[in-house]
Amino acid sequence: MADAPTLFSRIIAGDIPADIVYRDEMCVAFRDVQPQAPVHLLIVPVTPLSSIASVDPMHERLLGHLLVVAARLAEEFGVAASGYRLIINHGDDGGQTVPHLHIHLIGGRPLGALVGGGTSHGD
Ligand code: AMP
Repeated sequence: MADAPTLFSRIIAGDIPADIVYRDEMCVAFRDVQPQAPVHLLIVPVTPLSSIASVDPMHERLLGHLLVVAARLAEEFGVAASGYRLIINHGDDGGQTVPHLHIHLIGGRPLGALVGGGTSHGD
């Protein structure tokens, strides 16, 4: 039986509304519904890889493409000069909540040393 489509696959398919800002044959980018900064986009592969832990060498071109798109969107959204952060969360400790690989592009304000809470040393 096929896996149920992920939330992001449903957005890509147009079944769930989102503010889509970019689309090509390999990926889609849309605004995060709970933005952590003035610019907060998600760059999502059309192929529903569950996380960065699911990739293998056959995905090298796709992964490179996601980063190229992220850099272009940073330019387009006016944060390339001021700076921005790309984040890929994986698993529980990484804070991943949607099991479909995605890159956060966050910028438009000073982000500090790290985004998010929690302790950095586990102590
Ligand atoms: P992560 O915690 O790395 O898995 O990131 C998932 C992100 O998806 C979070 O920042 C959420 O705010 C975002 N998100 C959840 N549902 C939606 C949605 N329907 N449209 C846009 N972004 C969403």
